[in-house]
Amino acid sequence: MTDLRYTASRPEHTEIPRPKRGEGQWALGYSEPLNKNEQSKKDDNPLNVRDRILYTYSKRGFDSIDPADLRGRFRWMGLYTQRRPGIDGGKTAVLGEEQLDDRYFMMRVRSDGKLLSADALRTLGGISTDFARDTADITDRQNIQYHWIDIVDVPEIWDRLAAVGLDTLEACGDCPRGFLGSPVAGVAKDELIDGTPALEEIRRRYIGNPDYANLPRKFKTSISGHPSLDGAPEINDVSFVGTVHPELGPGFDLWVGGGLSTNPMLAQRMGVWIPVDEVADAWEGVIGIFRDYGYRRLRSRARLKFLVADWGVEKFREVLENEYLGKRLVSSPSPEYATRNGDHIGVHEQKDGNFYIGATPTVGRINGAALTELGNLVERYGAAGARFTAYQKVVVLGVAPDRVDALVADLDAIGFSARPSTWRRSTMACTGIEFCKLAIVDTKQRAIDLVDELERRFPDLDTPISVNVNGCPNACARTQIADIGLKGQLVLHEGEQVEGFQVHLGGGIGLHNTIGKKLRAHKVTSAGLDDYVTAIVTNYLADRSDATESFAQWVV
Ligand code: SF4
Repeated sequence: MTDLRYTASRPEHTEIPRPKRGEGQWALGYSEPLNKNEQSKKDDNPLNVRDRILYTYSKRGFDSIDPADLRGRFRWMGLYTQRRPGIDGGKTAVLGEEQLDDRYFMMRVRSDGKLLSADALRTLGGISTDFARDTADITDRQNIQYHWIDIVDVPEIWDRLAAVGLDTLEACGDCPRGFLGSPVAGVAKDELIDGTPALEEIRRRYIGNPDYANLPRKFKTSISGHPSLDGAPEINDVSFVGTVHPELGPGFDLWVGGGLSTNPMLAQRMGVWIPVDEVADAWEGVIGIFRDYGYRRLRSRARLKFLVADWGVEKFREVLENEYLGKRLVSSPSPEYATRNGDHIGVHEQKDGNFYIGATPTVGRINGAALTELGNLVERYGAAGARFTAYQKVVVLGVAPDRVDALVADLDAIGFSARPSTWRRSTMACTGIEFCKLAIVDTKQRAIDLVDELERRFPDLDTPISVNVNGCPNACARTQIADIGLKGQLVLHEGEQVEGFQVHLGGGIGLHNTIGKKLRAHKVTSAGLDDYVTAIVTNYLADRSDATESFAQWVV
């Protein structure tokens, strides 16, 4: 395998000074690993761990796993050790990773915006039931996430997934992670362009490709031609967003440098027009820049957004065109986007006269039986299939008009509501302390309880207010782009440190596109969360000019 550190070189024309204190950018000659993560990737390409899982670890059991694989390269196969039960959030920062490791794994299955057949859904459900103690969460990256996976079962799980065209390859790690696509690609009446061929081509060419398996850090992709911005392009490293050139017709604009975590940044629009059959090349150019110029010295600066922020989007475009594409991109004005919410909840007519139904569980939490039954419903109703959304929801597509009402009722019976309350619809939660080793507080159950309580207290709320519950500063459930964003931390209460949240207010993407304000004085205990949200929503309702003034506008 080629060692890219020694083949990546700076073309003559690029005027990028080599800083005295390097950031670990390969293209500027900083080829020596500068931290243990970089060293681990140099020691062995992480994709090689697949064979060790198949032929050694799954046969000999958990204790045979090399620690460098366990806590490093396993991620490239969508596997993390889960948090050992019973360790409270106060110990998260002080205990070493070994002490937090359980002997079981979290496994992430990427769907990459695929239309899932009845068989695929039943397979996902069966894996949950047979190997994951009935756990399954729909994540906000359109993945299915299991827990309680035993290493000895991984080969069988991979075989079952492969039989329905699914896998866990590069679902985590410093590589191109699961793609976000439009859940209504190819069927929505108001779609500008279908991004499916581009998604499939990128997957075919680059997932599992060793040339792009050693990136500075994770690399998140979104491709959608739907005007609701349903692929959350603002918070991905690279996004292809449907646009219409006045003469050339539908194509994709390129947005780069989005991401949240502790330094949130929204992606910047390049203002170009790329035809669908050239999206894969442009994607390779962007990931190539990230691989070669991305900062590797500090993990906290190793996302593409820092490079884009330092360079600016004009210079990024220049390097992309000159060094990676060898041609100029076509400039094009960006249209106005986000005419409606991009979660696709409810019943909507497709362009072929059939309907799609967007339905939500509560904060993405489902189980194996629900997935299996979802597959059965898809088959029984003759639907085309289902896709997951970037909002922890599911969309069933291709439903005949006369079968819609019955399917809505049957979906409701298994926990997927097509007519949820505004609270159930607009609340998301990350994994949290139940399974995540980085977590400080509980999230999923806390958010479920919050939704139940807010439905009681505000049953007729006329305006959606999004609440995103996160277990730590990493913002996997998008702390900074919710109306009420909650970042898990310990807070002081009556002299003691207890589970709680730092509050961020007024953020959003899509219709209202801004980073929420972190209000230092707004720290709330987990136990006091219901009352905090009640107080702030009561103030909003009393204070707003009318129902057209959104929560985020009121906060500003
Ligand atoms: Fe874990 Fe923190 Fe991400 Fe939640 S935000 S899943 S607690 S890393």
